[in-house]
Amino acid sequence: MLRLILQEACLLPMADLRFNDSIMSALFLSDKIKSLHPQYQKFLQEEVYPIELHIITHPFRQSLPVLQKLRTKAKEQKLWAPHLSEHDGGPGLTMVEFAQISELLGTSPLGHYIFNCNAPDIGNMELMHQFASAELKEKYLKPLMNGDIRSCFAMTEPAFAGSNPIDMGTTAVREGDHYIINGHKWFTTAADGAAFTIVMALTDPHNASPYLRASMIIVPLDNPGYQLIRNIPIMGDAGEDYMSHGEVKFTNCKVPVTNLIGEEGKGFALAQARLGPGRIHHCMRWIGICERAFDLMCQRAVARKLRDDKVLAHQQMIQFWIAESRAEINAARLMVLHTADAMEKEGAKAVKNEISTIKFFVADVLMKVLDRAIQIHGALGITDDTLLSFWYRHERGARIYDGPDEVHKTSLAKSILKKYIS
Ligand SMILES: Cc1cc2nc3c(=O)[nH]c(=O)nc-3n(C[C@H](O)[C@H](O)[C@H](O)COP(=O)(O)OP(=O)(O)OC[C@H]3O[C@@H](n4cnc5c(N)ncnc54)[C@H](O)[C@@H]3O)c2cc1C
Repeated sequence: MLRLILQEACLLPMADLRFNDSIMSALFLSDKIKSLHPQYQKFLQEEVYPIELHIITHPFRQSLPVLQKLRTKAKEQKLWAPHLSEHDGGPGLTMVEFAQISELLGTSPLGHYIFNCNAPDIGNMELMHQFASAELKEKYLKPLMNGDIRSCFAMTEPAFAGSNPIDMGTTAVREGDHYIINGHKWFTTAADGAAFTIVMALTDPHNASPYLRASMIIVPLDNPGYQLIRNIPIMGDAGEDYMSHGEVKFTNCKVPVTNLIGEEGKGFALAQARLGPGRIHHCMRWIGICERAFDLMCQRAVARKLRDDKVLAHQQMIQFWIAESRAEINAARLMVLHTADAMEKEGAKAVKNEISTIKFFVADVLMKVLDRAIQIHGALGITDDTLLSFWYRHERGARIYDGPDEVHKTSLAKSILKKYIS
């Protein structure tokens, strides 16, 4: 009987189970999402889920023609770039609506790339929309939104603690109408094959305020002063193309001063503006991964036979993992949607604590759900025969990038405790 109930509950197509079963997201369902969500879902089920495992387990470049075809199809079906306004060729979603689509796309490692809303491009698009000059928008933002080029973001350096992005060694010295950039960066995600990077560099290293020392500058990557040293292997996987993490060098790299984004010396403020929505995007993508891992977990639990006509799902420990995962994913989703809603209404500054909360909380849920899903699969879980090991390797960074857990927890606790200090 238990077996039957579990089979009925868990062997439904993954995305149906998630969407219909989710009381949490129903709280935030708009008419637009009711209409768009099934279209993205159909696209993923028909075009993406069948090929994703093959693509992520083979050299990525081999699959670019196939992926390009899917990107064209996404455009034809008017599903392209769900984060963009209608004016820019997207559906014009609110942050809450985009969060729900982002979750769905997160159920595949290829979802965000195919629909042109993957990091770091999405963060760079948002940044340029808000702060870049009309000339930079025409030259870099337009082709980026159209998917003709890719971009990257170079802030972190091997020689400085990236958790505190005000410390860095890269400099941009003004000479006439140009900046001359020198420095060494790493973890420049998607540097391999990108057309340009936004680099964070010190333009006023001796300013009394450490928050006014750096600026953000666009560097086209065919510049002779730029070098991609290597794609850094992540847990054994060097990655390629948009799945790469580059170690890069700038040596007397000369770019026009008009490549500056926003005002000189405001790089830190721009970084904060870029990271707020970026963290919400990551969290929704992680919830998508959790749902997929949860689905795999349930499928395996009911399918894996033990002795005496029992399956894994009959074991109480496995039931606990399934129940705990369900509760944690639901909680995470509600927290993220609430934060997205509040950010839209009150602005990024007002939800700083909420963003810190979801950043470490959802990353932790992601790790737990992936780990349980792998454990339930036994040896199969650590092979590349399911998506789980790919995500386990690639998403361990979730607790580190865009602010490590410890930094967010400290910041949240300090803000709470302030109210208790008279
Ligand atoms: C997969 C991935 C992709 C990335 N992509 C990019 C990118 O595209 N562009 C880019 O510029 N950077 C990128 N990064 C870099 C990322 O932003 C940094 O790794 C992050 O800011 C942490 O900096 P760090 O690695 O230098 O760690 P450190 O600053 O050296 O910190 C190490 C550890 O110390 C602890 N710690 C640090 N500060 C504190 C504190 N105040 N209190 C308590 N504990 C603390 C934390 O546990 C932390 O993990 C990426 C990183 C990863 C893993």
